[in-house]
Amino acid sequence: MTKHHQPQLDTSPVVSDEIRQTTCYMCACRCGINVHMKDGKVKYIEGNKAHPVNKGVLCAKGSAGIMQHYAPSRLRNPMKRVGARGEGKFEDISWEEAFDIAVGLLKPIRETDPKKLAFFTGRDQSQSMTGWWAQNYGTLNYAAHGGFCSVNMAAGGIYTMGGAFWEFGAPDWDRAKLFMIFGVAEDHDSNPIKIGLGKLKARGAKIIGVNPIRSGYNAIADEWVGITPGTDGLFILSLIHELLKAGKVDLDYLIRYTNMPFLVNQVEGSDQYGLMVRDEEGNQLVWDRTTQKAVPYETKGIKPAMSGMVEAEGVQCRPAFEILAEKYLTDEYTPDAVAERVGISAERIRSIATDIARVAFEEEITLDIAWTDWKGEKHDKMTGRPVAMHAMRGISAHSNGFQTARALHILQILIGSVEVPGGFRFKPPYPKSVEDHPKPHHSVTPGQPLNGPHLGYPRGPEDLCIDEDGKAKRIDKAFTWENPLSAHGMMHMVISNAHAGDPYKIDTLFMYMANMAWNSSMNTAQVMDMLRDKDENGDYVIPNIIYSDAYSSEMVAFADLILPDTTYLERHDCISLLDRPICEADGLADSIRWPVVEPDRDVRGFQSVLIELGARLGLPGMVNDDGSAKFKDYADYMVNHQRRPGVGPLAGWRGKDGEGKGRGEPNPEQLDRYIENGGFWQEHIKPENAFYKPWNKGYQEWAVERGIFDKESPYVFTVYQEIIQKFRLAAEGHGDIQPPEHLRAQVKMAMDPLPTWYEPFEQSLVDQEKYPIHALTQRPMAMYHSWGTQNAWLRQIHGTNPLFVSGEIWEAHGFEEGDWATVTSHHGTITVPAVRMDALNGKTIWTWNAIGKRKGAWALQEDAPETTKGFLMNYLISELLPPKGDGQRWSNSDPVTGQAAWFDLRVNITRVDAPADLQSTPTFAPQASPVGQGPKDIAYGKEWT
Ligand code: SF4
Repeated sequence: MTKHHQPQLDTSPVVSDEIRQTTCYMCACRCGINVHMKDGKVKYIEGNKAHPVNKGVLCAKGSAGIMQHYAPSRLRNPMKRVGARGEGKFEDISWEEAFDIAVGLLKPIRETDPKKLAFFTGRDQSQSMTGWWAQNYGTLNYAAHGGFCSVNMAAGGIYTMGGAFWEFGAPDWDRAKLFMIFGVAEDHDSNPIKIGLGKLKARGAKIIGVNPIRSGYNAIADEWVGITPGTDGLFILSLIHELLKAGKVDLDYLIRYTNMPFLVNQVEGSDQYGLMVRDEEGNQLVWDRTTQKAVPYETKGIKPAMSGMVEAEGVQCRPAFEILAEKYLTDEYTPDAVAERVGISAERIRSIATDIARVAFEEEITLDIAWTDWKGEKHDKMTGRPVAMHAMRGISAHSNGFQTARALHILQILIGSVEVPGGFRFKPPYPKSVEDHPKPHHSVTPGQPLNGPHLGYPRGPEDLCIDEDGKAKRIDKAFTWENPLSAHGMMHMVISNAHAGDPYKIDTLFMYMANMAWNSSMNTAQVMDMLRDKDENGDYVIPNIIYSDAYSSEMVAFADLILPDTTYLERHDCISLLDRPICEADGLADSIRWPVVEPDRDVRGFQSVLIELGARLGLPGMVNDDGSAKFKDYADYMVNHQRRPGVGPLAGWRGKDGEGKGRGEPNPEQLDRYIENGGFWQEHIKPENAFYKPWNKGYQEWAVERGIFDKESPYVFTVYQEIIQKFRLAAEGHGDIQPPEHLRAQVKMAMDPLPTWYEPFEQSLVDQEKYPIHALTQRPMAMYHSWGTQNAWLRQIHGTNPLFVSGEIWEAHGFEEGDWATVTSHHGTITVPAVRMDALNGKTIWTWNAIGKRKGAWALQEDAPETTKGFLMNYLISELLPPKGDGQRWSNSDPVTGQAAWFDLRVNITRVDAPADLQSTPTFAPQASPVGQGPKDIAYGKEWT
């Protein structure tokens, strides 16, 4: 008889001799990771089970961090340009020379005209520090990438309810019974959403995915709604119409927690029309049904009316709710009226509205947890309407995205599902009313800091960044009548405005981690031309460009001075409560990165470089009285900087004894405590404080103790937003600050105090018969911006990006497998490989973004598929709209916030044979690679270690 033996396998080999815990940066989710080290090298990466964000879950990107860390495209030295801009020819220099060049450029500007420095950063996670640096430098031209990412979501949320999706809030994954997800790219909020969706699925909750494309999260939805791009707002307002018609709104919630009962001035023609009526003390008034009097809304024991014209403070007025109901109950928003435009049948819209109403009002959740509201009223339970929603860039990257984001929040609020069990919940430091945010500041004085933070939330026309003639003060023209509430700036306009010298010329463009010469710009080809354009004297039109990046990206080739950054495993970083922390709805949390590996190249973390540059420039806050540097590096800043007394970048283990939470003196051992704890700090919120946060006395007191606020700051949701009405009044001729004539109609149309829907601008300006198709881009789950396409592991998942063509378009144009497509917009033409996709809105084509690469960039081989078949849709998108009737060309942005309207693109398509060289067009001359090309084969322990 034959004996069978088990093979002798070591099923648990020792893979590492040490584990170092830090924070992932392969996307913006900031998961906790265990970095396994062997012989001083990174051996592999796993998720940290104790971490609040990912609880041990690691995605493909996270585990491929090892290939990012050892990527051949890493920059190695500071460099100065020796070839022409765009060629990619550089000479290595020392850090000393790099600082000399930077100081030589920046010091004279600061002393004479600080606005001539434009400092813009990309998807970094240190904006509270970079903004503080720019403020102390004194330029008003600072912002990060939010203007071309998702400012519509952020501003729509803040102006409506004092918080927004993603980093500011999350669905109650543990209790929601119906979840609607709108337009979310799968690389954003990656692991937390996947974990959350898993919880919903395990409990049998229903998931409705609203997205023209059924990929990623939508592929696992129970119901996919393949909406027509740019019509989400109309769909949402139709749902609101149905809910109002059926009486399925939570009146008690609206009365207690929103401004729906507030009295609104109805005296037409008055300069107060549409504003809230206030008493002499400035209290906003409601109509008390018991006493039949107007009283301050905070008066205890009143019964506010929700309808009826009354007289208060000598003017005719009525509750905001009645205005809202009247607006949305018109026939304009019936499912039958919107169905064709949104691409969803009226029957289906009604059925979704019925689902929402049923779950919200027939399946409510009650938690037996007593709590006290800010008026001191005690409640013995917490009632929740378990309909949760989430949205991202898909609904916001349109020229109607701000009002669409507002509409979605108002839908949530009308059914009473915000900050309640089962609904949408804020993550500290949110909720935070718009009144608790700064306003934008723009007063520049040579040699002095700016007069306050650059970015903020205007409260009226008086907060715009314009001069007495109405001309933009900022280079990106943020906070002007074209885009009054551009809370994150407008990075996508910086290069074209600087090139045009409009509103003025700048001297130095300083950028960090923003691939503006490629996937981060609309109109990529012409942006490259602008960066290398010369004037009649032979000088560059944008005179100086300083750029910091860790990798040899396309943008590197256009810089004059390169400050090489580290990889995320070689640096200190601070995921701070002052910025975008890692809090969950049930807890306060922040985290760090620290150098788990020392750099083997002459590179430095950008934030440390900025601190040193600030000290060499003598910037306030960065030098001691004797002029010496105040901080050794970013790590020193993270521990010792105080934004307010006792409040600094890190909230954990503060104070001399390390017991301080949120508040306390700097603790020299703070970073050691974070490292010992796995790289993060966390404190849970008590159950009685965990819901109703804007109105919960216990939460408000705790938030003050933890340094989130300096005083309790309860507020009600501003469903009706009078700040927006103030801009509309100005457009109608009221007040001292009014828009120019050519913008009056646009301001009046877009600045509606209640969300409205209008056709996306590009769509309304192009010939729709000539350009009948919608074109979208989204990023894949396995990659994040352009970082992933140089990663040897992730490139095996997405090496190229075909054009996905809907079955309807495929058939109509006679496509067959292997065909290519020529796609033309009002701005440009591309020819690219095409494939059929039926899980797609019939009128839409799309592709993955940021996979196509310029030859020579990212140390890829010149024939890498990313540089041949790979392509960008950006060539088709202009930062300017087609000419209007008056010949003017306006920014391709949301008219409220300035958010880049990436997804308004309209195109036509033609079937073509595949070209013989299988090369997508347009193509660009290769850039020289300052780091050479990566090896053909990569293996651990060989070339790349
Ligand atoms: S979701 Fe993002 S942060 Fe988390 S492991 Fe993946 S790449 Fe890293």
